[in-house]
Amino acid sequence: MIAIAIDGPAGAGKSTIAKTAARELGYIYVDTGALYRSIGLNAKNVGTNLQNDSQVRMLLNSTKLELRFINNEQRVLLNGNDVSDDIRTPEVSMMASKVSAIPAVRAFLLDLQRNMAVTNNVIMDGRDIGTVVLPKAQIKIFLTASPECRATRRYDELKEKGMDVNYSSILEDIQTRDYNDSHRAIAPLKPAPDSILVDTSDEALETSVGRLISIIKERLV
Ligand code: C5P
Repeated sequence: MIAIAIDGPAGAGKSTIAKTAARELGYIYVDTGALYRSIGLNAKNVGTNLQNDSQVRMLLNSTKLELRFINNEQRVLLNGNDVSDDIRTPEVSMMASKVSAIPAVRAFLLDLQRNMAVTNNVIMDGRDIGTVVLPKAQIKIFLTASPECRATRRYDELKEKGMDVNYSSILEDIQTRDYNDSHRAIAPLKPAPDSILVDTSDEALETSVGRLISIIKERLV
């Protein structure tokens, strides 16, 4: 099986690149952020105190996650309910960032992510795919872009979905999540030593997509 790992901070263009490449190559695109988001959503619904180990244990014991692929698009089921759209709010983004620093949460999600790559050719995106989840991935890409550029992209994306959003609070959320993701003790956001580093700030995302897909195809032959 072939695995392609795409890591990087929020809004760098990981999902756009991963989706396009997956379509062209006929691979499954696994968005691992959706898993952390679903746990964040569940914690919010249940009112879990994330500082309390036994409440976190109870939360995980009552969390069943399943990934389904419908028309090649990932849907995530939380305790049997499709929450793929509910997990996209800024509030859930922050909850995801908080739960993702908890070692028990990361351990809970590890096998689910790895199992996807056992029986499928995958393009998986996240923060620790090339470093922790799939360290043997054949191709690893680390995407970055300036926080301002990423906030603009996120703003446009949410606006297009009809959400009422504010640029400065998106930028602030991105900076907070960047800090949390790269400073946590476990599986921090950082490039794997063997990853291809790409900064997408100074070009249209479509240009980066085209360039990366060519790199991926060259490496696969
Ligand atoms: O990728 P996305 O922005 O949807 O991820 C939401 C949050 O989940 C991130 O801010 C990060 O804290 C966490 N995450 C993670 N490891 C991953 C994927 C996401 O810690 N592999």
